[in-house]
Amino acid sequence: MNGAAAMPYDFDLFVIGAGSGGVRAARIAASHGASVAIAEEYRVGGTCVIRGCVPKKLLVYGAHFAEDLKDARRFGWNVPDCDFDWTVLRNNVLADVDRLEGMYGNTLESHNVRLFRERATITGVHSVTLASGRAITAKYILIATGAWPMLPEIEGAEHGITSNEVFHLDECPRRVVIAGGGYIANEFAGIFNEFGAHVTLVNRSDQMLRGYDAQIRDRLLQISLSKGINFRFNAPLERVGKREDGTLRVHIRDGDPIDCDLLIFATGRRPKSDELGLEDVGVELDGKGAIRVDDHSRTSVESIYAVGDVTDRVQLTPVAIREGHAFADTVFGGNPRTVDYGCIPSAVFSHPPIAAVGMTEAEARDRLGAVKVYTSDFRAMKNVLAGRDERALYKMVVDAATERVVGLHMIGPDAPEILQAAAVAVKAGLTKQAFDDTIALHPSMAEELVLLR
Ligand code: NDP
Repeated sequence: MNGAAAMPYDFDLFVIGAGSGGVRAARIAASHGASVAIAEEYRVGGTCVIRGCVPKKLLVYGAHFAEDLKDARRFGWNVPDCDFDWTVLRNNVLADVDRLEGMYGNTLESHNVRLFRERATITGVHSVTLASGRAITAKYILIATGAWPMLPEIEGAEHGITSNEVFHLDECPRRVVIAGGGYIANEFAGIFNEFGAHVTLVNRSDQMLRGYDAQIRDRLLQISLSKGINFRFNAPLERVGKREDGTLRVHIRDGDPIDCDLLIFATGRRPKSDELGLEDVGVELDGKGAIRVDDHSRTSVESIYAVGDVTDRVQLTPVAIREGHAFADTVFGGNPRTVDYGCIPSAVFSHPPIAAVGMTEAEARDRLGAVKVYTSDFRAMKNVLAGRDERALYKMVVDAATERVVGLHMIGPDAPEILQAAAVAVKAGLTKQAFDDTIALHPSMAEELVLLR
């Protein structure tokens, strides 16, 4: 408790942005007894719930039926030729987003967090002003405004869309160009390819999914090519033209232009720190516009904190949630704590998905010197019967000096589901021997992790 009643402020905490980090911080601060308000200019839930992880994952499920329906025939099901109706999936996904938004709103309400559905800007070290003109004071302000898609500055960029708009398309495009080679590019390449679109991923360099293990990335590239996704590497976009029939022509450096019906920019996200009044009150930003914070998420102004993508530490929802929770425990719960950024598992929901935790082989060699690498390159039982060539690849990176597993990298069906459990072992610092000592659960794909030789 913080003695809120005696405070000369309207609220103990004012949160700007009701996304994953902001909502968690608001709820936990309120449960510690703080009086809390939160402002949201768009929809409660933030990027993850409204136009990110959640609707994307539902589209991934929807897309996978294209393969499942085909494979089902090999398993004896008499599947007729099936059509796909984008509008049915889109509407069902958007309805689920509405449901989740409602749940987020209920959580805030049940914790007595006052929700202002409007934009807030910081007008003092303890004050914010809402779009309606109302001024509010708070002992602490938390900025949790997230990040925003970044577009290359090229002629005709306005003809493309971003992941913000992709969930609302009127129809499923026939030909899609996706600019970028990261998470969003690979995930939507898989989704639209499964829906039957002709997909071309255009990347400025010759590497995609930087940060993931090279062998795993290469496997995704091979499988994506075999599924019919086209790639143009070392192909920075030069300009985009709109033709009379409404279609787009995407011009790239050193290559033929590509005609398409939809261009999606998936070229990274920038912290959403503009026009918040930060400079006026002395909140420092880095060169990319990210709010600089200390280990406790405190900015250069004592009463102002920031969590999540706006700080550009690790742009992942569970990290923002941890940061929001740690902030609330620290400031309102009498339990100062920081977030441990080591061994954060992550996944790319491509077809098939990638999942990883810890160091890649290259990182481990750089940092540790001697490493041992174990791999299992196999065809999932399900794929064998389905007559699908696609091979999974699991890779374990071990510190040769200590025998500790320092990295796990996987591509294959359900890799994220398997990796989340295995990440506990890597985080706990277990050795390869500990994996070997565990008896396999047979038959499963996950058993490969304890059978690596
Ligand atoms: P990423 O950072 O994953 O990838 C950005 C891609 O765009 C890279 O290939 C990058 O190339 C390229 N790029 C950057 N700037 C330009 C430019 N000016 N012109 C052309 N290409 C450019 O970003 P995403 O947009 O895919 O996703 C944003 C973030 O959201 C991710 O970093 C991730 O943290 C999060 N996210 C997480 C997901 C998950 O957990 N499954 C899913 C979706 C998003 P280069 O490598 O050369 O820099």
